[in-house]
Formats: sequence, structure tokens, C-alpha cells
Amino acid sequence: MSTAAVTGVCPECETDLTVPPLVEGETLSCPECMLTLRVEAVQDGKLTLQMVEVQLRDWGQ
Ligand SMILES: [Zn+2]
Repeated sequence: MSTAAVTGVCPECETDLTVPPLVEGETLSCPECMLTLRVEAVQDGKLTLQMVEVQLRDWGQ
């Protein structure tokens, strides 16, 4: 029942990622395409990753 690392696949470039255990809502950067990915779910040591739209500060002011 111990997990030293979890794995996921970058939704953009499909690189296999092995990272220390993360929890839902945490973010990481894909080392290949440099996108910011957010952990949507963790199941059986596998991450479901979602691209994060990086919000540039563009609120009109
Ligand atoms: Zn990637």
C-alpha cells in the first residue's frame, strides 16, 4: 500500500511523467512541453492531468 511515486501522462505531448505523490488540485510542469498541469484525480497511483490555462493578468487594468 505504499506508493513512492505516481505516474501520469501529459495530455499535450503524451510524455510519461513519474512524480512524487501529489494530491488533487496540485499542479506540476511537464518537463517536455512546459505546460502547467493540474491533478484532477489520483487513482491507484495514476494521475489524471488537465492542462491549466495560464491566466495572464488581463483583467482590463
Ligand atoms: Zn507535456
